[in-house]
Amino acid sequence: MRMERSQELFQRAETCIPGGVNSPVRACRSVGAAPLFIERAQGAWLYDADGNALIDYVGSWGPMILGHRHPVVEDAIRRVLERGVSFGAPVDLEVALAEKVISLVPSVEMIRMVNSGTEATMSALRLARGFTGRNVLVKFDGCYHGHGDSFLVDAGSGVATLNIPGSPGVPGEVTRHTLSLPYNDMDAFRELMAARGGEVAAVIVEPVAGNMGFVRPREGFLSLLREETQKHGALLIFDEVMTGFRVALGGVQGLFGIKPDLSTFGKIIGGGLPVGAYGGRRDIMAHVAPMGPVYQAGTLSGNPLAMAAGLATMEEISRPGFYENLEEKTLKLVEGLAAAAKDAHIPVCCDSIGSMFGMFFTKGPVHSFADAKTSDLMRFNAYYAGMREKCIYLAPSQFEAGFVSMAHGSAEIEATIQAARSVMKTL
Ligand code: PMP
Repeated sequence: MRMERSQELFQRAETCIPGGVNSPVRACRSVGAAPLFIERAQGAWLYDADGNALIDYVGSWGPMILGHRHPVVEDAIRRVLERGVSFGAPVDLEVALAEKVISLVPSVEMIRMVNSGTEATMSALRLARGFTGRNVLVKFDGCYHGHGDSFLVDAGSGVATLNIPGSPGVPGEVTRHTLSLPYNDMDAFRELMAARGGEVAAVIVEPVAGNMGFVRPREGFLSLLREETQKHGALLIFDEVMTGFRVALGGVQGLFGIKPDLSTFGKIIGGGLPVGAYGGRRDIMAHVAPMGPVYQAGTLSGNPLAMAAGLATMEEISRPGFYENLEEKTLKLVEGLAAAAKDAHIPVCCDSIGSMFGMFFTKGPVHSFADAKTSDLMRFNAYYAGMREKCIYLAPSQFEAGFVSMAHGSAEIEATIQAARSVMKTL
């Protein structure tokens, strides 16, 4: 694979952007590779600066569920270009997107648009603290909720990949209010709530985890969170930034029938443009300014360009059969990867829900971040390098999930399985 142009751009980038990237995982450091600079994309394919064509399983880290350059999304964006891209004043499109999310997610009665997942979780936490008058936040090891101070305690994603336990610059006075427990550990959660439930403002969880790799909740875990928070007057926040409209049309909460008090969204609801959102019970959302006293604002929040891309994406994914079709493709891929590993005698743990999937290089089972860390990272790195050489574009970390889009056809899925077959034999 040619990489001269990407390397040249990366060298330039490293002199003017920290690590050469605007978000850490992109630098591909943990896999010892250099990033590919992307020139353009179409459907399931990325085309890099050296002219390589790669099958994309990152999907801009989740938003591109329709594939790249979907014509309906592009038309919607084009129509906004004829109106103006930002007014800092209310527009019809933000009302339409709010109504759409509310119609699809039963727990969401009111919603506020922001510009990223990080903003959504930070705002939801402030609201939970303002509403309950309490400070303690409970989260789970390996879950990532953006880079807000309160969440950078035993976090996943880039924080896991780079092996940084939190971050300098985050005051201990802030994180002393954050308690992090092993994911899926029901006894630990029960004990914590019995001891300190009355101090807890919110429990936040990735209801299906994607930032320590793909880890599903154990039977009863999410319902235990629901029962215990209710019992102690704490709020339950489902961080569905990744899972919302990805695992199912109604998110994890729709799939498992559990109603959190607040939810956060991002990625898919922006159709590839910068959008996040938080929403939930009307009586709680009524505390958000200017309706209530909890302050949260944004110059570009609800801007028409992002709202139009999000709305067009939401309309497309609401079509009958969309999720069944996507799940079928994903199952085919995951079964193919598992079979390739089995035939090469490589122990792996593969799993998926909807079009979100993962594969750990460990015999498993994987129920927690500690379990995920039993993966053979050297083997993952070799797999990543081998797959990239064969033009399969995966997330450059064992601790990230993968995403299939509607634009992935059987040719792409089959090519990916064949590539895995030949790479697995070399590991
Ligand atoms: N929460 C979850 C579950 C996420 O996966 C992410 C991003 N991967 C975030 C929050 C933060 O979103 P953003 O990167 O848009 O700030």
